[in-house]
Amino acid sequence: MALTGIEIFKKLPKTNCGECGVPTCLAFAMKLATGQAELSACPYVSEQAKADLEEASAPPIRPLAIGVGDKALKIGGETVMFRHEKRFVNPSGVAVLVSDKMSDAEVDDRLKKFNELKFERVGLILQADLVAVKGESGEPARFEALVKKVKDKLDGKGLVLMSEDPKVLGPAARACADRKPLLYAATKENADAMAQLAKEVSAPLAVKAESLDGLAELTTKLTAAGLKDLVLDSGARTPKKALEDQIIIRRSALVKKFRPLGFPTITFPCEMTDEPMKEALLASMFVAKYGGIVVLSHLEGHSLFPILVERMNIYTDPQRPMATSEGIYEIGGPGENSPVLITSNFSLTYFIVSGEIEGSRIPSWLLVKDTEGLSVMTAWAAGKFSADLIGPFVKKCGIAGKVKHHKLIIPGYAAVISGELEEELPDWKVFIGPREAGHIPAYLKMWKPE
Ligand code: SF4
Repeated sequence: MALTGIEIFKKLPKTNCGECGVPTCLAFAMKLATGQAELSACPYVSEQAKADLEEASAPPIRPLAIGVGDKALKIGGETVMFRHEKRFVNPSGVAVLVSDKMSDAEVDDRLKKFNELKFERVGLILQADLVAVKGESGEPARFEALVKKVKDKLDGKGLVLMSEDPKVLGPAARACADRKPLLYAATKENADAMAQLAKEVSAPLAVKAESLDGLAELTTKLTAAGLKDLVLDSGARTPKKALEDQIIIRRSALVKKFRPLGFPTITFPCEMTDEPMKEALLASMFVAKYGGIVVLSHLEGHSLFPILVERMNIYTDPQRPMATSEGIYEIGGPGENSPVLITSNFSLTYFIVSGEIEGSRIPSWLLVKDTEGLSVMTAWAAGKFSADLIGPFVKKCGIAGKVKHHKLIIPGYAAVISGELEEELPDWKVFIGPREAGHIPAYLKMWKPE
């Protein structure tokens, strides 16, 4: 049972030093109780108190990693039901299924797509995260051979090993224990053997039951056996029931503080339909509500891309706009006579503007001013894209040493600052560029350094 804020407060040092980021120990205790702070933020808490508070300070949904190093997939750790309450933490992992009953060509095709389907969006690379290898043949050697083959082709990405027979799962799990795969799945029938295997290879373990009560019973048993990193499969394979289960699991963990369901989940749109577009739709539903891992039967660019973009949008912190670093960006190999444009550092603005400049095929310098991630219009209205801030930035950034002309193109939406900016930059002439990024290519085609 989770502790209340007052119970936590009693175990804190009560010095109100503020080093945890809040002014008092009481305020810190309240944050711990609601999952908004981590105990490690207080450097003075005693070892005894640490042990006592572990349960209270742990996120209501246990965070865990599948895989190792910087390619490990982190799931769980969520603290809110709805993104607007705070933010979602660890994006759902997208997995593709291969089976030891598939032909080599089929497996190779899926692995090729897994490795090749990458999309760049606002400076981020979007791609699938895991390969789920299913042992359908029931032959340990065949399954192990496929797992080894997949492991070698994954460039360090994570694996889910799927078989409910510990004899089939065991050799494959040992063969890739260094990759810390997710073992799928412990059931009522095999729980003891699976727990032993998960402990032996130090891997997270998925737990599958036919009902949420059965799931809670199993996780209670496995936790008592010393396993901490569990992933839940409620067993539902109809969209309605599976969605209901996802919501109940999340609510039980967050609202009811029910620890037996406080783990990330794995979902299987691939087992709910044979229609590719319906499968993509179900996957997008589980990305939104609340799948820790979403397993797809295959990957196609036209359906994977929207799922990954949806995931990126949902797991972006709504209180912190995505921003690009302030600085000078070279587009198309600009020279001393190339135009110089300036914009804000809202990621979307940067990528649209830079995309249009690139499309114009006119090599250019793009100055990106830190506006705390606000778009040009909003930044100007908030006083973050004003002449007195842009002037010093242009002087300091070093663009004057890179071009012979001193002509600066500002966004049309910031036309009102042009006069003041010329006062701030007496050596520069300020030009008012287009309001819409789509008009930049035509504008640049008419631009002349003299
Ligand atoms: Fe209290 Fe620890 Fe925070 Fe200091 S750092 S105010 S002792 S909780």
